[in-house]
Amino acid sequence: MAVKDGDGWAVCDQGHRHWGLYGASGLLAVHFDDEGTPHVLMQKRSGWSHHGGTWGLPGGALDSHEDAVAGALREALEEAALAADELRILGVHLDDHGGWSFATVIAEAATLLPAAPANGESTAMRWLRADEIAGETLRVAVEIVAEVEQTGAAVPVVVEPVVVESGGGEPAGGEPAGGETGAGHAEAGARDDDGRDPGHAGNRDAGEVLHPGFAHSWPQIKLALPPSVVVLDAANIVGARAEHGWWRDRAGAARRLLADVEELARRGLRPPEGFPAPARWFPRLIMVVEGAARGLRSQGPVTAVDAPGNGDDAIVETVREIRTTRPWERVLVVTADRELRRRVRELGAEVTGPSWLLGQLQRV
Ligand SMILES: [Zn+2]
Repeated sequence: MAVKDGDGWAVCDQGHRHWGLYGASGLLAVHFDDEGTPHVLMQKRSGWSHHGGTWGLPGGALDSHEDAVAGALREALEEAALAADELRILGVHLDDHGGWSFATVIAEAATLLPAAPANGESTAMRWLRADEIAGETLRVAVEIVAEVEQTGAAVPVVVEPVVVESGGGEPAGGEPAGGETGAGHAEAGARDDDGRDPGHAGNRDAGEVLHPGFAHSWPQIKLALPPSVVVLDAANIVGARAEHGWWRDRAGAARRLLADVEELARRGLRPPEGFPAPARWFPRLIMVVEGAARGLRSQGPVTAVDAPGNGDDAIVETVREIRTTRPWERVLVVTADRELRRRVRELGAEVTGPSWLLGQLQRV
């Protein structure tokens, strides 16, 4: 595969013209402060670019066979000097148009990382409080009230929602001056025939308007921002899995479960129906083991915890500790045990059964 072989225009099944032959991705860095308030790193796009002057995310066209996460991290480094080792991937939200899609890669930053325009595609990088970013529908945009500096000092600015008249778009023939357009859906053409296009205002005026693609996805993404922890009741899941002879070798069964969950954690999980998380989900994973299964050590992204005594008590303690130290984090406990479900729900956790997890493992 060639580097940058994704540069070029594509037309989706809905008739829009988009930048990125193999789709595009953007990086949404989010930081939760001590009160649990989310702050999002936004990029003001250079005037020459597609939807120039609007606010969106660092990102751009994917190369062929490039994973959305790798592409978003590459663009974030190129455009905003954000290093991958300072970010923890939380999930990938996909806006699928049919034949073309935009992947928003959500990543948690432990601090308001210093970010600044690193190439010509952006004129500012700013951390904004999530509740200051409007966008309930495509018709709502955001006006930056505070004066925006040209450098990306990590200071949240005050923003005020304003309603604009119609959805995004681009004047016919409005191609970027250069090849690469950076972040966003890069919608063009198809929606312009109503003759009233706030995208024009965004392009012409100072940048106070959200990129239309970002504004479209933002209401859903905002709900999926909080990081999550999945706590696995290993004994209960192993029992539900009921591998041949598992009761004779509980340690072996728990070890195989851990290996399979580690593999799943690298691919990304599907959240349970109705759980507010990105479609491809990378929660923190804690597996609580008891009795003969204790002593497991994870080489990968799963934390194995030995229950000193009763497994249920250890799971309740784990949930309580998370709720105390990071109360904005969502907790999902995987167990079919009714009494345990009641105890963790009392602490604010959500619950789901082992089949939700087992259905996603490659070896079931
Ligand atoms: Zn489209």
